[in-house]
Amino acid sequence: MNKKVHPDKIPYLLVCDKKGNIFEDTAYYTVGKAGNKIVKLLSSDFIELPFGSDMFFLPGRNPVGLNIKTEKIEIIKSRLAVAAFVAPAYTITHHAVWETKKNAPRLPLFAFAAVGWLNHKFYVPALRIENDIRQDCEQFNQKKVIAGYKKMIKIKPENRIIKHLSHCALVYFCPAARNYFLNRWEAPLPTSPICNSQCLGCISYQPKEHKITSTQNRITFIPAPCEIAEVAVEHLETAANPIVSFGQGCEGEPLLVWKTLRDAIVLIRKKTQKGIINLNTNASKPEAVEALCKAGLQSIRVSLNSVRESMYNKYYKPQKYTFNDVLESIKIARKHKIWVSVNYFVFPGVTDSNEEFTALKKFLTEYKINMIQWRNFNIDPEWYIKELNYKYDSKLLGVNNIIQNIKKKFPQIYNGYYNPGKEIIERYLGLVRK
Ligand code: SF4
Repeated sequence: MNKKVHPDKIPYLLVCDKKGNIFEDTAYYTVGKAGNKIVKLLSSDFIELPFGSDMFFLPGRNPVGLNIKTEKIEIIKSRLAVAAFVAPAYTITHHAVWETKKNAPRLPLFAFAAVGWLNHKFYVPALRIENDIRQDCEQFNQKKVIAGYKKMIKIKPENRIIKHLSHCALVYFCPAARNYFLNRWEAPLPTSPICNSQCLGCISYQPKEHKITSTQNRITFIPAPCEIAEVAVEHLETAANPIVSFGQGCEGEPLLVWKTLRDAIVLIRKKTQKGIINLNTNASKPEAVEALCKAGLQSIRVSLNSVRESMYNKYYKPQKYTFNDVLESIKIARKHKIWVSVNYFVFPGVTDSNEEFTALKKFLTEYKINMIQWRNFNIDPEWYIKELNYKYDSKLLGVNNIIQNIKKKFPQIYNGYYNPGKEIIERYLGLVRK
């Protein structure tokens, strides 16, 4: 599955001048960060920067590289650091390395991978974890998205979800919303303006004191079940490999409006048996998960920054629920034999710590989930570590290494990046139940 396109040697470090020009400094090799460790990367750690990735210079931060002559790690005071936000379907293994100056602004909600340059190509330490092309940049033709939007809004002019998704597709360029208007694959069904967590890196709500902005705004209304069903039925009936998903970046927690979800699922399944109905969630309400499974939910994706309760609590700051409720929801979903994924936020240096990995193996053994979605953790790394008061006192195993280890030790687990469609779910559930 991994792209076997490694450079011949370690790429040169990318830096940025005061005018915002990004270029390579051939006196330095690119190094990577895993937790608080600066790692001398190998050429085999790198793959070509995937099409559709972004590149940033980092304000108030000086780049750090490996001086090729002296073989010493050095800070380049005269330049700004550069990092890449790698396209979906890829998991990064190392952050970029920089030294933060006093008064540097907090970084926005992206993942900041190391990035280098060699022989006219950009390279990042990452691996392709998912074969599915559903969010690959070359799949999108914005003219066709606009045409799809115009068609849908003409057919269903009163539907508020379609109006909401048009903003996502046309302003935020959200790949899920764009796929909806392209009438294919996974379509989003946002429903909840409220949440019972207070995640540090929430992409739909950021309080002023965090000094960063959320990347999307939350939906401002709760759609009626018939509005949800109207969007979902059409998509499930007509799209290729269709999935409809509650729980999106542009909303709060869908379980807080679970009765609406339940009624919508019943309406949807009265009209069509096609495709998959999925819920992306913090899994905070086991009784709601039970009701949704009974109504016909087929897949659930639970987001976790860590499988350790203390780490979870410090990041999610759960309001009126506990980590145990999350675990209980997973148990209930498995009891109903629906597909359970974990949306596992990968943070090099924390996710691959021996302590977290040991806890992950225990969790996988006990809860028998079906899938891990190895997604990059979009947050200023220094902010996360500081807020969680995280101590780097556990041995690091390497992100790539733990993924390969999980593949070997838990061959029944599907590793990827997206909620799978019916074919994969049926194949894998059939396999594990033999
Ligand atoms: S659970 Fe989702 S919506 Fe709620 S605070 Fe966390 S990221 Fe935001």
